[in-house]
Amino acid sequence: MIEKMVIAGSGPAGCTAALYAARAGLAPLVLEGNAPGGQLVITTEIENFPGFPAGVTGPELMDLMKRQAERFGARFVSGAVKAADFSSRPLRLTMEDGQAFQAHTVILALGASARWLGLDSEQALQGKGVSACATCDGAFFKNVPVAVIGGGDTAMEEALFLTRFASRVFLVHRRKEFRASQIMVDRVLAHPKIEAVLDAVPEEILDVAKQTVTGLRVRNTKSGETRVLPVGGVFVAIGHEPNTVPFRGQLELDEAGYIRTRGILTTVEGVYAAGDVQDPVYRQAIVAAGAGCMAALEATRFLERAGL
Ligand code: NDP
Repeated sequence: MIEKMVIAGSGPAGCTAALYAARAGLAPLVLEGNAPGGQLVITTEIENFPGFPAGVTGPELMDLMKRQAERFGARFVSGAVKAADFSSRPLRLTMEDGQAFQAHTVILALGASARWLGLDSEQALQGKGVSACATCDGAFFKNVPVAVIGGGDTAMEEALFLTRFASRVFLVHRRKEFRASQIMVDRVLAHPKIEAVLDAVPEEILDVAKQTVTGLRVRNTKSGETRVLPVGGVFVAIGHEPNTVPFRGQLELDEAGYIRTRGILTTVEGVYAAGDVQDPVYRQAIVAAGAGCMAALEATRFLERAGL
């Protein structure tokens, strides 16, 4: 069987594409990926998605989006894409569990994943006090001092969230200037539990021998001095990598691995990309949702033109 439309990814971009395609009568098949609902599912309160004046939690918003798409006939299957072949028609996608799908159009809405520092100690202590998700793991650090690494909005959000549990939060950033929005920076710097450690790069997370986090050694980039922050947890919040590995060689990617697009058009006809997988600039749920809508409309027109 050849699907009219397969959508890879189930975050705001994938779910919005599914909603529009379903309402166009295409019964799209959504491959949910290893993190159904995408990054919003592991975020805290969302205050900037229009239509929710009192805020909404990530899981709640994604559940609503999925149900809305299902109501019109979108079908969701679990699992992630392992490989793709866009060299001939129909387009082909193979899942990690071996299932294979053929499709006339594909929308890639695979999002992005957390980036890591690349320290050996970070890898050795992942899940043992080192995390990239405060929402998931913050509650394990009641009355324990923790460090958050990064200077973007994610780091600010994680630092603020962690003040609910941790006794103290060190915000470690490699510069003095923040990339985060001013309102978030102001909230963080005014918080009595948060101490900003600036011009500082993490060198080592202690203590691999003990298989638990007992501290974070940071080096001041100006003075060269090192300091050990006495923390029991380290939260890495330094940005994301696009989830495009299975698509290398199938369509054009930029140097950072994001899918190169003109609008939402990729370099392969009938293949569209929407959301964080093609957008290193805005990376917002509402932007991803808008791009998902555009991709579905464009794919629908392609099917109409081709008489499919
Ligand atoms: P960003 O890319 O915005 O920030 C990453 C931060 O990590 C930067 O401060 C960067 O430092 C630092 N960093 C990167 N690599 C390293 C490294 N190897 N070592 C040390 N530090 C490093 O990513 P975010 O995830 O914070 O945000 C992504 C997007 O999502 C943004 O557009 C943001 O506005 C948005 N967002 C919005 C939220 C909201 O509105 N509530 C919440 C969360 C995110 P440097 O600045 O020096 O490059």
